[in-house]
Amino acid sequence: MLSEQMEAAFNEQITAELYASNLYLAMGAYFDAQAYRGFGHWLRMQSEEERQHALRIVDIVVDRGGTVDIQAIEACGSFESPLAIFEQVVAQEQRVTQTFHVLSELAEQERDHTTLVELEWFLLEQVEEERVSRDILKKVERLQDSASGMLELDRELGGRMVAEEQEEAEPQQ
Ligand code: MG
Repeated sequence: MLSEQMEAAFNEQITAELYASNLYLAMGAYFDAQAYRGFGHWLRMQSEEERQHALRIVDIVVDRGGTVDIQAIEACGSFESPLAIFEQVVAQEQRVTQTFHVLSELAEQERDHTTLVELEWFLLEQVEEERVSRDILKKVERLQDSASGMLELDRELGGRMVAEEQEEAEPQQ
């Protein structure tokens, strides 16, 4: 069984992941509206990933006999520029990494070994999330004043979408 404190911390984390999912969806819509469909696609995929994180924690809470209690989710606000958005993405991921560290410390205090094993996956996932979002931020910093550079980056981020479209256009023989 999860302790009451651990259950509350996990519930907070579910709410935080759902907030991140909404945030990335809203950011993606900002880019879509400016015809940066690659950025929009990338952020929508990130949004889906955050939702998967929330679902993964929901399963942990249920499997351990806890009660899922999702709180109100904060509004996402509006966005000013690609640069400001990716600065926010990096800050968001750094904050999430911190909350997983806090969860790990709580699990250590409680000698909750099962939770520590579950949290390992999230801690490693955060290394990847931070690296990928930092890389995009660096590219936006370099390219934000170059229309052709931003279009190239947009194409790169939409890469998976392009692959899907190609598959549709050229069915397997
Ligand atoms: Mg996440």
